[in-house]
Amino acid sequence: MTTPTPPPSTTGEPVVVLGAGFAGLVAAVELDRLGIDVIVLKASGAVGGLATSHTVDGIRFDTGAHFVTNRLATALGVMDQCRDATEYSEAVWRNGTAASYPLGLMRSPRYVTSALAARLRRNPASRTAADRFRSEYGRALADEVAIPLLEAWSGLPAEELAPSILDKIPGGIGETVALTAARRLTHRPIAIGYCAEAPQSANVWHVYPRDGLGVFTDRLAAQLAGRIHLDTPAEAIHVRDGRVVSVRVHGDDLPAAAVVTTLPAPLLPRILDDPAVAPLAALSFRAMVFLQLRIRGRGLLPAPVTWTPGSELPFFRVTETPMAMPWLAPVGETVLTVDIGARVGDSTWTADADELASRCLDALAALIPDVCTRMIDVYSTRTPIAYPVFALATEPARRTIAKHGIRGLVSAGRNAEFAHLLMEDVYWRTLRSMRRLGRQLAG
Ligand SMILES: Cc1cc2nc3c(=O)[nH]c(=O)nc-3n(C[C@H](O)[C@H](O)[C@H](O)COP(=O)(O)OP(=O)(O)OC[C@H]3O[C@@H](n4cnc5c(N)ncnc54)[C@H](O)[C@@H]3O)c2cc1C
Repeated sequence: MTTPTPPPSTTGEPVVVLGAGFAGLVAAVELDRLGIDVIVLKASGAVGGLATSHTVDGIRFDTGAHFVTNRLATALGVMDQCRDATEYSEAVWRNGTAASYPLGLMRSPRYVTSALAARLRRNPASRTAADRFRSEYGRALADEVAIPLLEAWSGLPAEELAPSILDKIPGGIGETVALTAARRLTHRPIAIGYCAEAPQSANVWHVYPRDGLGVFTDRLAAQLAGRIHLDTPAEAIHVRDGRVVSVRVHGDDLPAAAVVTTLPAPLLPRILDDPAVAPLAALSFRAMVFLQLRIRGRGLLPAPVTWTPGSELPFFRVTETPMAMPWLAPVGETVLTVDIGARVGDSTWTADADELASRCLDALAALIPDVCTRMIDVYSTRTPIAYPVFALATEPARRTIAKHGIRGLVSAGRNAEFAHLLMEDVYWRTLRSMRRLGRQLAG
């Protein structure tokens, strides 16, 4: 393995991008478009990160993202390789019954009365996520639906989570209701809640690449030929007089005009020995195990995305992607993706697919009574880095990401920004921050 040589320079030293997931690739392509020399370092041997799909025995499923939009596909220049989703909706399944989200939930007089009461009450500033959920959604909906889901994807009680967890959740309830009505009227799978960085509208709907999400990152990587270095971890970032000056790679120092990191935020202090970023080591992510059940039938869930709040269940969401993207499974079959929160090394993390299936099947049978007889096969995937945990205790550390003050160090993407960002959010935010960086380098 040789140390990357900086390309012929237009701006002096290159900008070094750490990570070749979606954010790293978007950052590098934008810097290149701005005429800035760029080098991408990737510790492992493949690009894509969370935005990768898997094909096993004729079925296809994803690591992270399943639902992307026509606006993102168009911006990346891959809309011609995508098909429209045939439908999109969400449901909440609780105590044996399903309610569509949001209109079905709004038919519950209890939820509506409690939400109205919360609106009328003068609430003091929320101290915890639990307070904020109750004051925004009303106690009934918060306690029975929103808080159990939040706790399942965070692994902590809502009283120990920060109210800022709600900052990045796109759209208010009025907008959600209006777009849901537009979805029903137009029969188009309008995207709701999938982007906070650009306006939601009836012209933004769900699509999916025919050949899986890898199409997005492959398209970006193709524009960076020769500048992505796989199996090349950054060993250290060097800072002098408060400014990034170089990155150590294979024992050599590579001069850098700036570093864009897309690595998970808590890993940054391992390669950057500076008190300004040391607090980031305290941040943590919730790990997730995904069980993929290949079963006979199609359209077996109340909605393609079915939320299952409640501590009695071993999972908090079940997704049937072929309901929305029929080409992801052979005719007559479907795939259920079951999302299970975990801690690296715990009994969920270490269980194999068959054992996880046996833990989940009783609960799933309440949703699909004959699920056991429909089973064809079961697979599992897992990621140690799924949901940023907005613990109250680590809020000061989280704020360090935006305020470390090191010139030439930019954090981009879901993991480095430590925020629940979906792909379109990552895209628009990263474009903006690269343009800002470009102006700084030029000035
Ligand atoms: C369960 C789940 C479901 C999602 N569903 C959707 C969806 O339906 N629609 C949507 O738009 N978005 C969805 N997302 C979000 C989407 O997957 C991300 O926004 C996007 O893929 C983030 O790209 P990124 O480059 O910031 O992060 P990553 O893809 O994680 O890449 C960051 C970089 O960090 C590296 N890295 C990661 N872990 C480590 C480690 N431990 N050590 C060293 N390096 C590491 C990676 O290799 C990569 O180079 C979902 C995410 C999750 C977790």
